[in-house]
Amino acid sequence: MPLRQFASMADFIVFQCPQTGMNVQTHLEKQPKLERRSFEAFSCPACTRVHFIDLASGQPMKRER
Ligand SMILES: [Zn+2]
Repeated sequence: MPLRQFASMADFIVFQCPQTGMNVQTHLEKQPKLERRSFEAFSCPACTRVHFIDLASGQPMKRER
């Protein structure tokens, strides 16, 4: 079976909301083969804020303060 068939199965990113600590499932597909970092804005249902998700790693962008 070609690998492509597995890849087409949605591999949605689940991340931990940095505000609430809840695991949140997104509608964003993980793209581990991205050559460059690509962040996608996602409206978080847990905290209602917008997080920027790294599509390659599936991790939210952390803000240093
Ligand atoms: Zn959140």
